[in-house]
Amino acid sequence: MQRIDAIVIGGGLVGSAIAYGLARAGLKTALIDEGDVAFRASRGNFGLVWVQSKGLGAPHYQRWTRRSAEEWPKLAAELVAGTGIDPALEQPGGVHLCLSDQELDERRARMEQMRAEAGNFGFDYRMLGPSELKDMLPRLGPAVVGASWTPYDGHANSLYLLHALHNGFVQRGGVYIPNRTIDYAAAQPNDFRLGSGADEVAAPKIVLAAGLGNAKLAPLFGLRAPVRPQRGQILVTERAGRVFDMPTTTVRQTVEGGIMIGDSMEDVGFDTSQRPDVMAAMAERAVLSFPWLAELQVVRAWAALRVMPPDGTPIYDESEQFPGAFTANCHSGVTLAGAHANVFAAMVAAGALAPEMVPFSARRFDVPQAA
Ligand SMILES: Cc1cc2nc3c(=O)[nH]c(=O)nc-3n(C[C@H](O)[C@H](O)[C@H](O)COP(=O)(O)OP(=O)(O)OC[C@H]3O[C@@H](n4cnc5c(N)ncnc54)[C@H](O)[C@@H]3O)c2cc1C
Repeated sequence: MQRIDAIVIGGGLVGSAIAYGLARAGLKTALIDEGDVAFRASRGNFGLVWVQSKGLGAPHYQRWTRRSAEEWPKLAAELVAGTGIDPALEQPGGVHLCLSDQELDERRARMEQMRAEAGNFGFDYRMLGPSELKDMLPRLGPAVVGASWTPYDGHANSLYLLHALHNGFVQRGGVYIPNRTIDYAAAQPNDFRLGSGADEVAAPKIVLAAGLGNAKLAPLFGLRAPVRPQRGQILVTERAGRVFDMPTTTVRQTVEGGIMIGDSMEDVGFDTSQRPDVMAAMAERAVLSFPWLAELQVVRAWAALRVMPPDGTPIYDESEQFPGAFTANCHSGVTLAGAHANVFAAMVAAGALAPEMVPFSARRFDVPQAA
């Protein structure tokens, strides 16, 4: 049996960021991943580091997202220096485009509510008209009536991020165990044992970060992770010369030049098939926003499943029954990578989640909603 300091289950973006942070804090950590049989949101996402619409009605989530966006440049710089792999972070701000007056009114109301809920913490946003937008996003289409803008948003290459996190983790002494299905798990307070075949690994700390797999794993450790799948589809065009630097919620240009068009929100269970009607609707909206996109060939398209908590807000918890067991679940693992690697991992290393994390507990689902 191999005895170490911490085990992280799940080698997607959430688990890898946390495992990287734990290894950096000096904990001998194993990162166990099930492999290609699993649903892996981390390999099928849109790559936004997105703040402006996160945490409506949940100011703690708004603050957590902002904190992560602030941590991102430090994390990216450290990964580049340590691994030579650049996650291609750009944070020039971002816009959400509106194609009708009704959309614009709804967006304005949403952003104003975000600002009100931010209180003294502050929330900097502006509603922009077409002429201001044209300076930011050249070759914008006439169908765009306006947009919301915040300075906090950005985008990255999430595949490079994942690669860099894995690489940095191993460099810092982490043990990456891929393609491993856990046959049994035994939990005692501050003593967790996982077995796979003849191998057994034991540690006083465990973090469940297995994406949709957390729903089944969590009860074994006195935790709850009631996450469900939500399908998203993405289109990618052939590469083009650099047209714009600023990402929008549904259209962004990668550093390599391809235009990504995303992403749908479909509640279809574990169905990962692609739907031409959904892709056509996404493409139509993108072409209304940027008519020149119609000239580009779509070269790739895929569907992937988000890891969605019931209220859309992340679930972070520590087990009362088995101290030392933690869980992390969210649908914005790219955006939250900075917070997971630099803040959440430090809390786990210290042995307890900070009081600011209490509102993220799954215990919130025990409180009946007001009528
Ligand atoms: C279409 C789409 C667009 C998105 N766009 C964005 C975006 O623009 N910005 C953003 O921030 N986020 C975005 N996301 C969300 C982001 O991709 C996810 O939040 C993030 O990838 C979740 O990471 P995860 O590690 O929790 O889950 P996953 O990537 O699913 O990883 C979980 C891992 O756990 C492993 N696993 C599961 N069960 C077990 C088990 N029993 N034992 C061992 N290992 C196990 C699996 O092998 C898997 O590798 C998007 C997601 C989708 C689907």
